[in-house]
Amino acid sequence: MITDNARALLSTGTICDSCLGRPFADRSFGLTNAERGGALRTTVALADDEDFEPTDPADCWVCEGYCGTFDAIAETIVDELADVDFATYQVGTRVPPLVEENERLLREDAGLEPDVGESMKREMNREVGRRVGALTDTDVDFDRPDVLAVVDLQGFDPFETLESGTVTSHAVDVQINPAFVYGRYRKLERDIPQTEWPCRECGGSGVQLGDDGEVDCEYCGGSGYMYDTSVEQVVRPHVVEAMDGDEGTFHGAGREDVDARMLEEGRPFVLEVKRPHNRDPDPATLEREINDAAEGAVEVEGLRLATYEMVERVKEHDASKHYRADVVFGEPVEEAAFDAALAELEGTTVDQYTPERVDHRRAGLTRERTVYEIDGDLHEPTEAEVRLHGEGGLYVKELISSDNGRTEPSLAGLLETDAKVTALDVTGVEGEHEPFELEEYFRSEPRADRDDELAETAD
Ligand SMILES: [Zn+2]
Ligand SMILES: [Zn+2]
Repeated sequence: MITDNARALLSTGTICDSCLGRPFADRSFGLTNAERGGALRTTVALADDEDFEPTDPADCWVCEGYCGTFDAIAETIVDELADVDFATYQVGTRVPPLVEENERLLREDAGLEPDVGESMKREMNREVGRRVGALTDTDVDFDRPDVLAVVDLQGFDPFETLESGTVTSHAVDVQINPAFVYGRYRKLERDIPQTEWPCRECGGSGVQLGDDGEVDCEYCGGSGYMYDTSVEQVVRPHVVEAMDGDEGTFHGAGREDVDARMLEEGRPFVLEVKRPHNRDPDPATLEREINDAAEGAVEVEGLRLATYEMVERVKEHDASKHYRADVVFGEPVEEAAFDAALAELEGTTVDQYTPERVDHRRAGLTRERTVYEIDGDLHEPTEAEVRLHGEGGLYVKELISSDNGRTEPSLAGLLETDAKVTALDVTGVEGEHEPFELEEYFRSEPRADRDDELAETAD
């Protein structure tokens, strides 16, 4: 009988309504534990015709006052998040081991199962979380919240808090999850790496040891980088600043060679911003800022706010590539032979042994890649333009040159002459089976825009 259990719990000593209600947390959905406990206390008093005595959490031997601190904790969390933009949150609590022990003792002394009902940790997370949500008009998200507040109950004295109504900020650790911007980039000039590339001589420090101490690194001229800039360095600072974050990471959907341009529709990427204080920058403004600052070397388009799933999407999604290559032959080539060689390569699956240039440390292996489509124009007997659409991972320079026989078949092999790519452009990166852009990986329109609309309506 529930009143017998409540009576047994009350006989263990002075306990507050929350602690009395928590063993019955699986009953009557919609009540708080404090409401369950208060009702049981009233029921027992009536059944036994005893004077009713309300109990203050400060006197509770189980929670030692913590059940009276929900409001104060929530207010501290909200203060800590004052300059952070978020739509979803989660609250976590570290409960002192002594209090957890009290919870077991309470149930044991009352002859109940040691873990019946709910733990204080769960009640604390829910009650504090509910208050945070109400104060900030945001929603709880147990999966991937924008912000996570972890409360360490040992970080404050509950009795002091019951007196003052405040909790020190030291007891609350606020974590801000990353935010993401998706887009496509074009690289209109050669010799720009996709991501920043620290100087191999000075390791990125920009200095080397001279006779009289540190001097500028000769190799990189003191910049610390192998190249003056990179797509990452063009894009990242603007996104990090717009989102008011700490740092950013560039994730590309594969990468082209440093000396290849990336043209036409561009290549998908995601910029991940750590600890963003603004999750809703206007992508159109951001796009303009990046393109203005890049002065034509790099362009971005189609920027949109994305979910974290988009990182894996751009990194893992199977994509085929379109290329345009300028090719020079060692000996003059006949038009008919050129056309026949391209016809031979179209639709062919090519065996490619890992090229020498790729990575000297990587163990070599032979991979099969398909040339979906290929065509070209022989401009001169020793000069041609070749355009092709190939499976992801196809090494195009080697498909042309044969890479000393490591790629079979190849254009050089079929024509029985040397062939070399002198300029390469990537003209398209597209998902093999479906596009990169899936609506479910994008966030709805930025809040800023909606605020603007509201402001306009209000005027
Ligand atoms: Zn209590
Ligand atoms: Zn250097």
